[in-house]
Amino acid sequence: MLNNKDKIFTNLYGLESFELKMAYTRGDWDNTKALMAKGPDWIIDEIKNSQLRGRGGAGFPTGLKWSFMPRDSIKNNYLVVNADESEPGTCKDRDMIRNDPQKLIEGCLLASYAMQAHNCYIYIRGEYYNESVVLEKAIAEAYDAGLIGKNACGSGWDLDIYVHRGAGAYICGEETALLESLEGKKGQPRLKPPFPANKGLYGSPTTVNNVETIAVIPTILRRGASWFSSFGREKNTGTKVFCISGHVNNPCNVEEEMSIPLKELIDKHAGGVRGGWDNLKAIIPGGSSVPMIPKNICDDVLMDFDSLSAVKSGLGTAAVIVMDQSTDLVKAIARIAYFYKHESCGQCTPCREGTGWMWRILEKIAAGDSSSAEIDKLLDVTKQIEGHTICALGDAAAWPIQGLFRHFRDEIEERLKKGSFAA
Ligand code: SF4
Repeated sequence: MLNNKDKIFTNLYGLESFELKMAYTRGDWDNTKALMAKGPDWIIDEIKNSQLRGRGGAGFPTGLKWSFMPRDSIKNNYLVVNADESEPGTCKDRDMIRNDPQKLIEGCLLASYAMQAHNCYIYIRGEYYNESVVLEKAIAEAYDAGLIGKNACGSGWDLDIYVHRGAGAYICGEETALLESLEGKKGQPRLKPPFPANKGLYGSPTTVNNVETIAVIPTILRRGASWFSSFGREKNTGTKVFCISGHVNNPCNVEEEMSIPLKELIDKHAGGVRGGWDNLKAIIPGGSSVPMIPKNICDDVLMDFDSLSAVKSGLGTAAVIVMDQSTDLVKAIARIAYFYKHESCGQCTPCREGTGWMWRILEKIAAGDSSSAEIDKLLDVTKQIEGHTICALGDAAAWPIQGLFRHFRDEIEERLKKGSFAA
């Protein structure tokens, strides 16, 4: 279990004010100038050595991503922070922004400097209105204190930070759709390549990083890459904020060591599964787009990128959705399927049409009006979507359905035969 002294987000629960004077007491902005004086290469190397992987879902190594940014571009480089937190079950960036925003702002300065960007945009989902107000206040305080703006922290580096509110589309969390939206266009994903590091915002080199990824940067640089990488396992290092929801006694956000066993995470921090561990049916371990895993896998799986991918699921955003024996899993996944149908941007035929097909078939199964052959058809549709679309929303819609039938097909067919769905 992670010691309090090793927690990065010491005000995650908002027990203290978010204001700058309190952020100073938590160690934020402590001699940032000295960290910058070590130079952009040192910062990137330190982040590479920490083995930090992106916290937004894909888990790409952050230092490596930063190293793709050209340094000698005649165009402006941009850092864009993705605060469009919309993955169902996920609410960690929200607490970081409303309770500990200076960590994010200091991280923006250090990351922008490492990638030689003078402009940083924070794209926050429209529904996070109160959080955007806090963020704007925190940025104004940082400007007034000379921490950002001209000659930020006395480093000689200029940085401007802008907050941009989205309008409520899930797809704008996809990095290229986010850039389109930021440019004032319809939020639809771009074809890749070119990747944003070559041609991103306004056609300039751009890196898009999640809030948590940027907010942990100052502490990693201050305490050292080896401190961060001492938590978790090789290539799955550091601390991580998990969001635990569903059928637990105490739903919560909690910062823990990466690779903590799933059962320990739930028992220690969420008060255990409602009715006890044996009452567990399945868990979605990384937000609604990753496949669920049944209890026998939950018994000893570790919460990190590689352990969860080894059991054909994923860490995603680390949003742990717990479902006990009372859950109608088909109904639960049908509801998720409806969400993806609703959020499809409609550019690719497999996603635009397929998400509707999948939702309708799941609703038929949930109503008991289906058959084994129709389940085969449904799985066939998931395969026709997976990997055949511009962005990962198609996969995100297909994987939860594949996960459901991978583990519970026999049980679902049995219920269809008995007619127990229709009851
Ligand atoms: Fe749009 Fe879906 Fe295609 Fe993504 S996969 S670009 S959301 S239609």
